[in-house]
Amino acid sequence: MSLAWFNGLLIAWSAIALISFGSLWWKPAPYGRYFEPGWGRALDARWGWILMESPAVLVLPFWFVISERTANPIAQVFVLLWLVHYIHRAWIYPFRKQAGRPMPLGLALCAVAFNLVNGGFNGGWLFHLSPAHPPDWLSRPQFLIGVAVFAGGFAINVQADTVLIRLRRKSPHYRTPEGGLFRWISCPNYLGEIVEWCGWAILTWSWAGLSFAVWTAANLVPRAVAHHRFYGTHIEGYPASRKAILPFVF
Ligand code: NDP
Repeated sequence: MSLAWFNGLLIAWSAIALISFGSLWWKPAPYGRYFEPGWGRALDARWGWILMESPAVLVLPFWFVISERTANPIAQVFVLLWLVHYIHRAWIYPFRKQAGRPMPLGLALCAVAFNLVNGGFNGGWLFHLSPAHPPDWLSRPQFLIGVAVFAGGFAINVQADTVLIRLRRKSPHYRTPEGGLFRWISCPNYLGEIVEWCGWAILTWSWAGLSFAVWTAANLVPRAVAHHRFYGTHIEGYPASRKAILPFVF
């Protein structure tokens, strides 16, 4: 594929994220607390997560393996970081969380399509189309700052998800999460995820990475706002000072 085509498709893909943002603002994706019958066949949420996220584990490494950069340590580090996130998300997280409410099959298939395309853009760019990163990339500021942001986001995400998993184990009801960034915001797990992919955009220094960060924010900011509203209306005494996703701001 030519670079012009790739860039054109990436711009179109990023524009779809903005449309998705608008529609999710209006109606949250129908899984978890927003699940309702009427979305067609549904499957167990645990298997839904495995189905949705497994393609992401495989797609970027696929583009790596068929590239000419398999011996390049920078490319290897990119794959490793990607796998740290996605092996956790696809094959560890679903077994840590409770099975929970069902998930519409159609939604899971949309997420499969997203992961195929997103993994294709990132893998296609990093291992095939991009000019090779300079040999000292792993010691450059963009990479080091990006890795720190990525790791920080991952830690925030996993810590917050752990709080929620424990709450869910204790009770089938939604309770007020406490501790960590929950002191200031309703959805630190989503904030952590967005921070993580901002870190990826920085450490790869790529438009494909930035597009992924934009997509993540487009999915998760409206969902955080919906969760925040949900807590305000369903949990008596929910801390009024908490913001939705950005401490002290929003
Ligand atoms: P939620 O916060 O909605 O739910 C996570 C788990 O915690 C669920 O099992 C949920 O139960 C439970 N839970 C949540 N809040 C409470 C509460 N107050 N009391 C008790 N239990 C609670 O997260 P998502 O399911 O939307 O996302 C899970 C992970 O996937 C997150 O880390 C998120 O960042 C990531 N993700 C990433 C996306 C991306 O675009 N990169 C898109 C979507 C998610 P129940 O299922 O019953 O609600």
